[in-house]
Amino acid sequence: MICKCFQILFFFLIAANSVFAEYRKIVVIGGGLAGLTTAYRLQQLTGEPVEIYEARERVGGRVLTAHFYDSHEELGAKFLDVTDSKNLKALITEMKLEVEDYTTDIIDRKYDYKGKAAPYYNVFLSAPSPDETTYDLLKEWSRKEKNLGGVLDSFFAKQEIPRHLTEIRMRGYEGNDTKDLSIEYLDSFWNYYNKCFLIAHGRAKNTAHHQTIKGGNSRLPEKLAEVLKGHVHLGQPLQKISMTHDGKYLLEFPSSKTVTTDCLILAIPCSTLRDIKVEKGIIPSDQWEAIKILQYGTNGYVLISVNIGKEGAAEYSVTEDTIVWFNKDRKILTMAFGGKVGIFNTRSSEDVVKIIKREMPSLNLLFPSIKYTGKKQAVSWINEEFSKGSTSSWGVGQFELFNETMELLGEKVRKVFRPVQNRIFFAGEHTSVDHPATMEGAVESGEAAARMIAQIIKPAKEKETTGPGS
Ligand SMILES: Cc1cc2nc3c(=O)[nH]c(=O)nc-3n(C[C@H](O)[C@H](O)[C@H](O)COP(=O)(O)OP(=O)(O)OC[C@H]3O[C@@H](n4cnc5c(N)ncnc54)[C@H](O)[C@@H]3O)c2cc1C
Repeated sequence: MICKCFQILFFFLIAANSVFAEYRKIVVIGGGLAGLTTAYRLQQLTGEPVEIYEARERVGGRVLTAHFYDSHEELGAKFLDVTDSKNLKALITEMKLEVEDYTTDIIDRKYDYKGKAAPYYNVFLSAPSPDETTYDLLKEWSRKEKNLGGVLDSFFAKQEIPRHLTEIRMRGYEGNDTKDLSIEYLDSFWNYYNKCFLIAHGRAKNTAHHQTIKGGNSRLPEKLAEVLKGHVHLGQPLQKISMTHDGKYLLEFPSSKTVTTDCLILAIPCSTLRDIKVEKGIIPSDQWEAIKILQYGTNGYVLISVNIGKEGAAEYSVTEDTIVWFNKDRKILTMAFGGKVGIFNTRSSEDVVKIIKREMPSLNLLFPSIKYTGKKQAVSWINEEFSKGSTSSWGVGQFELFNETMELLGEKVRKVFRPVQNRIFFAGEHTSVDHPATMEGAVESGEAAARMIAQIIKPAKEKETTGPGS
């Protein structure tokens, strides 16, 4: 028995040693915020070069700024202020970029109700007060229901309009129709509902404060790529992962290009990771099963250049099926679709024109002097080959599986995204424990992956410099 234990220990030491000794080449897959942050922080922590392979011909992934004439707006992630964004803001400052703050008036928000522009918040005047009793009632319904939509149906039983506006808002922010969202999104609804109720009753500020990156959010991934120059390989979609005979990972890209590595960081969404052929046994089956099922939102944005004259239109309003807002200088209008209406074709210009034509009567109603000046750009994120979704979102019954956490290498990680044999690491908004579905989550997860890997590399480097037996 003792002999067996020594044997196991011996194999463990050999295996661990070979990991340390060969932990030379580090490869990151995905040049979004998570992948770029991992590579940047790893270089800082270890001095080791890190190679990034990015499928698209651009970095940034779901951070994508559109430029129309002298104006710009986001087709993907927009607001830094969806959380405190501590790590994201530190990185922005480090890259010598600036956070831009702006405040907009929200009190005159309107919605298109059967061809009439109605004041948005008035709808919540007769809604139940968001007090403890109401919350308890919601909680009680949520114990019986399987999805958020079911709870909202009961809550707004006889209130068709608030139910409809809530649906548009929730699917715009969480990505999916409320029937497809876990009841864990109840608190997200509750925050929104409280705010609407308080504004309606004149008890909350009538302004909204926003933060974005000056010059456009894409500047951050672009700056990171500049710093990592020479190590970012564009147009390289990973297609297959297998093992070489000497225990390295063999990565296959189109045109028979291959790369081997000892340490692999998968900083791509599960929605595209599950399309990659991964040799059996490389990723434990419980992790692979989770990767296969994680739900993704179906947000899609259509941006149009506009002229709204001197009209003091609200920065945010609601057409029959979508939230619309203006950018800071009010030259670009975004139609932010979510849920099933966020799934559309952007293959041809005609596809996008069809959507604009469909929404135009509502836009004219909400903003009577609006003029579309001809520029447009659209993304339906679920139909983007290297995103296949807007953000991770807990589908019905998915919350428990994805929210089990554990401590590893000094970091709190989601169990389904734990490192594999200290050689494969996961990064990306979906892996962030505290801020999933955000830019902060992407940065946070990249920094955590870098710290974990640095912990493994350092002992090996120290051993190398002191020499064996010294
Ligand atoms: C419409 C929309 C609105 C949003 N709004 C906000 C917001 O207001 N605030 C906020 O904080 N967040 C927001 N987000 C979320 C935010 O964009 C993401 O959380 C964050 O950008 C994700 O970064 P990531 O690096 O994890 O993933 P990604 O940005 O998706 O990066 C992954 C990268 O991997 C690449 N890739 C994929 N497959 C492969 C492959 N096989 N081989 C090689 N490379 C591959 C992709 O091209 C991509 O560049 C929004 C997202 C969307 C879509």
